[in-house]
Amino acid sequence: MKRVANFAAGPSTMPVEVLEKISQDILEYNDSGMSIIEMSHRSKDFLEVTKKLENNIKYLLKVPDNYKILFMHGGATGQFASVPLNLRYGGLYVVTGSFSKKAYDESLKYVDSRIVLDTREEKRIPTTEEIEKAVKNYNPDSTYVHLTSNNTIYGTEYKEFPDVKNLVCDMSSDFLSRPVDVSKFGIIYAGVQKNAGPAGMAVVIIRDDLIRDPKDYTIINTCPAVMSYYLTAKNDSMYNTPPCFCIYAAMVMTQNLIDKFGDLDHVLEYNEKKAKIIYDYLDNSKLFVNGVNKKSRSIMNAVFTTGNQDLDEKFVSEAKKNGIVSIKGHRSVGGMRASIYNSMSIENVEKLVEFMKKFEEENL
Ligand SMILES: *Cc1c(COP(=O)(O)O)cnc(C)c1O
Repeated sequence: MKRVANFAAGPSTMPVEVLEKISQDILEYNDSGMSIIEMSHRSKDFLEVTKKLENNIKYLLKVPDNYKILFMHGGATGQFASVPLNLRYGGLYVVTGSFSKKAYDESLKYVDSRIVLDTREEKRIPTTEEIEKAVKNYNPDSTYVHLTSNNTIYGTEYKEFPDVKNLVCDMSSDFLSRPVDVSKFGIIYAGVQKNAGPAGMAVVIIRDDLIRDPKDYTIINTCPAVMSYYLTAKNDSMYNTPPCFCIYAAMVMTQNLIDKFGDLDHVLEYNEKKAKIIYDYLDNSKLFVNGVNKKSRSIMNAVFTTGNQDLDEKFVSEAKKNGIVSIKGHRSVGGMRASIYNSMSIENVEKLVEFMKKFEEENL
């Protein structure tokens, strides 16, 4: 089997041992005489898989008892709509990258939201004080504050979170990459294809009081059933057929993470080590620049460029010849991006940096 160093932003690289386990269970799961993707989502085996995923997330993030963990269709983009459709009031959006802007735009279809801070141009993350000040006069009973913890395209990441009630956070690209104090949030959601499995599912961690019975709404309930937190929670994520394969694969991924690292402190340590290898090199490079505010640098997505489009293209194509793939930056920003999620090995990061050094020597 051939394995390249795959720096894709999502779907993204997964550990070989996880892929091997999945391959086995795709043929036959647990002596059941059938594949994991052939069995009923209400079978004992599958209910155990779902419970195990829930327990793994609960264990890793130390999720308090007054939160529910939901598995929903539609990825993170589904949640851009689910949040306003369920909460039913306008949000205050902190825009730091492409996805936070998309979340804001989507919310406008249903509620009256506002952008309270926009730091995209500065390529930085606002301080907690800035955010707290910007939302100072908000009413936590009739609004929420939305932010994106890691900007996958811009390569910036929050290091700490503001103290505001009903904080809603898109954690798609740094989910389970570091410890987080869940009690600071009203809702955490994440598409799983960056750190925790294949594409097509969102994990939602939601505080109980935000799951409201639609019959309590004073306005007409237009939330589609599959997007409803109430129906999803009430039916243990099985109101309809859930994304079975995603649930199963995310269970294997989270179990692998626990077996390998024990807890998220150790996962963070590993991720910081990988990011440091790239940023230390970039800071001393005469060819490549990172261009992001240093304090806001992401440990999940490191962006860089030579500043010359032709040279960037040459880098991407030569990297590919050397088994380093999907290193091209997002089409909206150009340049390069190394996505170094949990499953990216330190060896592959070292391989990338060695290649960058060689490229620099040859092209400076
Ligand atoms: C990838 C990503 C999304 C989009 O996820 P989908 O599952 O494709 O909807 C949203 N937000 C962030 C921060 C992401 O990284």
